[in-house]
Amino acid sequence: MSEKRLEISELGEFGLIRRIREKFTPGNANSVLGIGDDAAVIDSGDYYLLVATDMLVEGIHFDLTYTPIQHLGYKAVAVNVSDIAAMNGRCEQITVNIAISNRFSVEAIDALYEGIKAACENYKVDLVGGDTTSSISGLMISVTAVGRVAKDRVVYRSGARENDIICVTGDLGGAFAGLQVLEREKQVFLANPDMQPALEKYDYIVGRQLKPDARTEIVFDFEELGVVPTSMIDISDGLASELLHLSNESNVGVRIYEDKVPIDQLTFETAVEFKLDPITCALNGGEDYELLFTIRKEDQDKLKRHPEIHMIGYVHSRPQENIMISKQGTVVPLKAQGWNHLRRTD
Ligand code: ADP
Ligand code: MG
Repeated sequence: MSEKRLEISELGEFGLIRRIREKFTPGNANSVLGIGDDAAVIDSGDYYLLVATDMLVEGIHFDLTYTPIQHLGYKAVAVNVSDIAAMNGRCEQITVNIAISNRFSVEAIDALYEGIKAACENYKVDLVGGDTTSSISGLMISVTAVGRVAKDRVVYRSGARENDIICVTGDLGGAFAGLQVLEREKQVFLANPDMQPALEKYDYIVGRQLKPDARTEIVFDFEELGVVPTSMIDISDGLASELLHLSNESNVGVRIYEDKVPIDQLTFETAVEFKLDPITCALNGGEDYELLFTIRKEDQDKLKRHPEIHMIGYVHSRPQENIMISKQGTVVPLKAQGWNHLRRTD
């Protein structure tokens, strides 16, 4: 009898990455940090070079029935620039790999690259290479981002310490709420192709899903305000999952407060319309590409008045105790849903 094979679902995405990580220990002296953060860190003399890569796959990360292909190009760049920002760095170059089939016209690929170009211009990033190949299973776009950070300003997932303040930028849950709207309109359209999608009312959250922006300006604000966060990660999988990454990598625990988690009014109303709990969209929805970071208590005043920064909780010393205090005052354990739960994650 043959032994039962190990299913990927038994490990989950994070378990699988952990398994790969255990097999590779960087050996070169300039490999400062390998697998396990938003970007790899390479010593380049006066500064650290940052390298991040992310792949978007048709049917998993995007659905071309409602995704304008130029937005997809923009998003593929934005999510990588976001990973560089999560190290407190600036992205300067990208390479782009695409796998395409003859289902796509030259015009479609032009449109994809228009979006890529718009993102390059917006983030002041140069496209410096890539690879083009064919695919029989839809479109794939893989972007690698290269950035830089001063050695004394690099921020890892692992630096959070007891009593640090937990902060997030912008608002959360919007991208997931936007996805619900798009999926519903797709079903309406499939049932009756004469129906025009009613999206105007949902502009903000649909935009959050289709054309997210990386929080590059926050990196400049930190510098200007004289703050180096103690830890940082970008929110691609959802607040809960990212908080658990900070907890794991920093060997600390986190406590956040539901009433402090920033949720836009439209996100809130749309979640309710879809019979979802708005806080669940923020905790587990993902794809908001906001920054989650911790700061020392002494730095609190420097960021207090920043309109895009919200303080949502604090760090304590018990790594197993990662909780949210609900609006009713109950204790809710934070759980990472990740890959196994939702259709789309990274
Ligand atoms: P993010 O959500 O910030 O893009 P991921 O969860 O995708 O981060 O990846 C976490 C870490 O694991 C990163 O350091 C990434 O480079 C690494 N990683 C992910 N997949 C692989 C893989 N197949 N091989 C090697 N490293 C990987
Ligand atoms: Mg990331």
